[in-house]
Amino acid sequence: MYPDTLLHIDGAWRPGRQGRTIPVQNPATGTIIGQVAHAGREDLDEALAAAERGFQVWRRTSAFDRYQVMRRAADLFRSRADDIARRLTLEQGKPLAEALGEVKLGVELIEWFAEEGRRTYGRVIPARAPNVEQLVIREPVGPVAAFTPWNFPINQVVRKLCGAVATGCSIIIKAPEETPASPADLVAAFVDAGVPAGVVQLVFGVPSEVSSYLIPHPVIRKVTFTGSTQIGKQLAALAGLHMKRATMELGGHAPAVVFADADVDYAAKLLATVKYRNAGQVCTSPTRFLIERSVYDRFVEGFVAAAERIAVGDGLLPTTRMGPLANERRLRAMEELVADARACGARVLTGGHRIGTEGFFFSPTVLVDLPAHSRILSEEPFGPIVPIQPFDSFAEVIAEANRLPYGLAAYAYTKSLATAQAYSAAIESGMVAINHHGLALPELPFGGIKDSGHGNEGGTEGLEGYLNTKLVTRAGL
Ligand code: NAD
Repeated sequence: MYPDTLLHIDGAWRPGRQGRTIPVQNPATGTIIGQVAHAGREDLDEALAAAERGFQVWRRTSAFDRYQVMRRAADLFRSRADDIARRLTLEQGKPLAEALGEVKLGVELIEWFAEEGRRTYGRVIPARAPNVEQLVIREPVGPVAAFTPWNFPINQVVRKLCGAVATGCSIIIKAPEETPASPADLVAAFVDAGVPAGVVQLVFGVPSEVSSYLIPHPVIRKVTFTGSTQIGKQLAALAGLHMKRATMELGGHAPAVVFADADVDYAAKLLATVKYRNAGQVCTSPTRFLIERSVYDRFVEGFVAAAERIAVGDGLLPTTRMGPLANERRLRAMEELVADARACGARVLTGGHRIGTEGFFFSPTVLVDLPAHSRILSEEPFGPIVPIQPFDSFAEVIAEANRLPYGLAAYAYTKSLATAQAYSAAIESGMVAINHHGLALPELPFGGIKDSGHGNEGGTEGLEGYLNTKLVTRAGL
């Protein structure tokens, strides 16, 4: 039911040269369900050499031929969706319906990038002299090193993989060791679709060993990372030191503001659904709830009721709405955040504790009466905990929303167009969603500002990070 996962290097699936493996756990039970191959230095050297050769082949492959391979990969990935979703739930914990949604979004992302890769046009700039032509040409940046986390094992990889493959780059993906099988399924779809050897490598190992070797290596021309701000800053610094292009998709602590004129009941219901998706382990998850004082009590009541209705359980059960946390670290982190809030005098309105002793389940949690220094108000929870605070004025709520160094996603609920416009203009965030949560679609740009990173992984912007610009200016003789 759950396979061991191999490395994919130079067109072949194989174990690490040293034969080492890393165990994979089911977060719903805590049991070991499989092993993933560990890449050592020799494997990384082979992956680098293959990526260099693969780049030379792929950059010369026409955009149309690349598109055809990607379309076949999308079809294969779609046809395998049910099995892949099961493996994703087993290794990551999210409910099967969410896992299937992730696979389907993965298919849409492949299709979007495939199409968009055919439209990476250059331009012709009118010259000052009559016999001169000035051409702006877009070229693939070169072999890419990509590092992705465990919360969306497929969708964190697919944006990077597709950005690279659609533009003619090769890629070495260091996918998450905790959730390796579903990213391997994604790579398998590309391999089976006929992507040439060397274009796509998949490795696993000790993250810091892999990144500290790949990023400075002369073969690698671009680095892309999704994960915590802390690690992102380290990798961005290393990339900068070696003058590598970098895309950084890092943490957030998204304000969710409900103004008094909003449909408060709708906001409470929708925010509860979105907040507890993937047990809150989403970089764009709404995490700082700021509610205008006159509707505060009503919102809190509606939100707590919705949180208490969420059925927590094994993601394979059809009744489950929220699965376990993906690993034991998140469980400890939740317990620490709640303990800190309690010690500061906050009230726990619901949840606040681990569920059972098997697996990594934590209850949907709501905290109120939080003093400003409680950790949850400044640290990204990355789990099913919601702090709710009242506010009295627009200026106050904007100051609070912009207080943190993050700037990934921001949400607001209001019926006033003027308030919506003022909020969008004042908020320091890469993405703003008002009265709904429509982020992450393939055709939309996806990225943060400030400590949430730089670069984009969706929309037409999603290809930019994988392209160099070359100017050719030529005079007729
Ligand atoms: P972490 O910060 O150690 O790891 C986060 C991710 O970065 C993991 O996938 C890990 O394999 C990778 N990583 C860690 N050190 C690395 C290195 N030196 N080189 C390359 N990759 C490296 O801790 P964690 O417990 O896995 O996650 C904790 C925090 O990370 C969360 O609280 C959250 O803030 C953040 N996170 C963010 C995202 C996101 O989507 N932006 C996803 C997962 C985790």
